[in-house]
Amino acid sequence: MNKNQYFRDRIKKFYDNNQRDFFWRREKLSPFQVLITELFLKKTRAETVDQRIEPFVKRYNTAGKLCKEQRGRILRKISPLGLGNQRTTALKKIAGFVHENFEGRIPNRLPEIEGIPHVGLYIANATFCFGFNKRVPILDVNSSRIISRFFDIDARKDLRDNKALQLKAGELLPRKSFKEYNWGLLDLGALVCKTRPLCGKCPLRKGCGYCSRYHHGKEAL
Ligand code: SF4
Repeated sequence: MNKNQYFRDRIKKFYDNNQRDFFWRREKLSPFQVLITELFLKKTRAETVDQRIEPFVKRYNTAGKLCKEQRGRILRKISPLGLGNQRTTALKKIAGFVHENFEGRIPNRLPEIEGIPHVGLYIANATFCFGFNKRVPILDVNSSRIISRFFDIDARKDLRDNKALQLKAGELLPRKSFKEYNWGLLDLGALVCKTRPLCGKCPLRKGCGYCSRYHHGKEAL
């Protein structure tokens, strides 16, 4: 089995056995709801977001509803998540932009999603994949850390400019079950291949460049 196939299979198996159960994975959400959820997940722990996000995205399930809502009310609803004025401004700007430019619907084209204010490469790809069911890789700090460690690719550059990492992420993406694969990568990064990796618990330890270099081929504990 080649290295890409091994990587893919291990990630999918890891997801089957260890997937984290979140509201946004259980429910069928619209692209707008997916994008708003991803904005909440930016720099906030997924477990914390999971406790609070459901009523918010159900109440503001369209850009129009979020546009009309008072800032103060939005702020009160997101403050239990530790979010404040900046995120309220971002929510209002996104909703206003989508309402004015796309008749309230998230466009079904990646460059246009990326052009929405406060939407970077990660949120755009996550919205395209999880909201539109499109086959694109999801590169964030977690998934890029795994790929760069396993394949010995330099990840110090800005992800947007890191063509080697983007190319490898694209090569690895399976034809089917790509959503589950992407979630599996995010889960492995959050649970195992952390900044201080738990290589002894990792399904990728055989063949991982980083692990063999730093643990001399032995499994790290
Ligand atoms: S073996 Fe270690 S470094 Fe390699 S992917 Fe797994 S946790 Fe990360």
